[in-house]
Amino acid sequence: MSGILIIAEYKNNNFKKVTFEAVTCGRQLAKELNADLLVAVLGDKIADLSQEFADWGVNKIILAENELLKNYTSDGYAKILSDIVGKYKPDLILLGATAFGRDIAPKLAAKLNVGIANDCIALKFDENKNLVGTRPMYAGKILADIVIEGMPKIFTIRQNVFPAEKMSGISSTMENFEVKLFQEDIHTKIKEVIDSLGNKIELTEADIIVSGGRGMKGPENFKILDELADVLKAAVGASRAAVDAGWKLHESQVGQTGKTVSPKLYIACGISGSIQHLAGMSSSKCIVAINKDPEAPIFKLADYGIVGDLFEIVPLLTAEFKKAKSR
Ligand code: FAD
Repeated sequence: MSGILIIAEYKNNNFKKVTFEAVTCGRQLAKELNADLLVAVLGDKIADLSQEFADWGVNKIILAENELLKNYTSDGYAKILSDIVGKYKPDLILLGATAFGRDIAPKLAAKLNVGIANDCIALKFDENKNLVGTRPMYAGKILADIVIEGMPKIFTIRQNVFPAEKMSGISSTMENFEVKLFQEDIHTKIKEVIDSLGNKIELTEADIIVSGGRGMKGPENFKILDELADVLKAAVGASRAAVDAGWKLHESQVGQTGKTVSPKLYIACGISGSIQHLAGMSSSKCIVAINKDPEAPIFKLADYGIVGDLFEIVPLLTAEFKKAKSR
């Protein structure tokens, strides 16, 4: 095997957590295969940012810089990535199953005429040294093991499932890739980029998440979670019951059919703790549950449980955190 290629994703000059998760996963696979680990970073003026991979045990950082790559377009990225694949001939390509990954990976697979498995939650070799990707299907009702024939094989990985661990002791080289890209290769014109999150923190990137469920009783009451989240610099999530009721957008949903998160602190407010919800947040480092029912299943998983009315407790927490921060 010649190499494992990671496709890096970044926003506001920060790489996404899932890119480092893919790097860590790719590093383990590369070790088993005695292969090189490569990372491709596409964009404009991204050399300084890309140095970060030197701390992650990457052998080669492939830099594709061009002003036409400043904003993501699937045409531009697919063209350059297929050129990169043509030059470095990796046998395996890994990237996050984010909106970016879900857009570019199938396009790249079609361009290269190769197989792809999306949204994998595990990647391991079987006894015949075939790489097997495990992915949930039918809203998580089954787990399918996928083996891809041909090379390169493309796998996207679910966010916050694989660990991300730095590694020192490997010297990385940075290589500039000659970008051959023209305006006419790109069929979309980016007029404006609007960040729908504004100053808010993305759920899958957040260290702290405050989530609300059916116990919030209505969309207007999420205001008290927003206030707590502002003080804690947290993102706001929701259970499916809250999303189905139209109180929050699906992008906020945590769980089996929503996002998988793994923050340092997860505060569940008025969420009972169904298995489908736990499937998306049980790997959180510390779980705090606020629920008026002492028998709610969430308390079995929670590190700290507060039995009581969230409409009293959440504002009290916000006030106490504010006080503590101003000390
Ligand atoms: P409930 O179970 O109704 O719980 C509300 C809780 O609020 C109760 O425990 C109650 O005691 C508490 N409460 C009420 N008032 C207060 C108050 N004033 N103060 C404190 N506590 C209060 N669910 C997900 O979340 N994410 C998923 O991705 C997901 N995927 C699913 C996929 C499938 C295929 C299926 C079948 C279901 C899925 N579900 C998912 C739905 C899941 O089964 C539950 O229905 C859902 O998680 C319940 O949400 P909830 O905990 O907010 O509501």
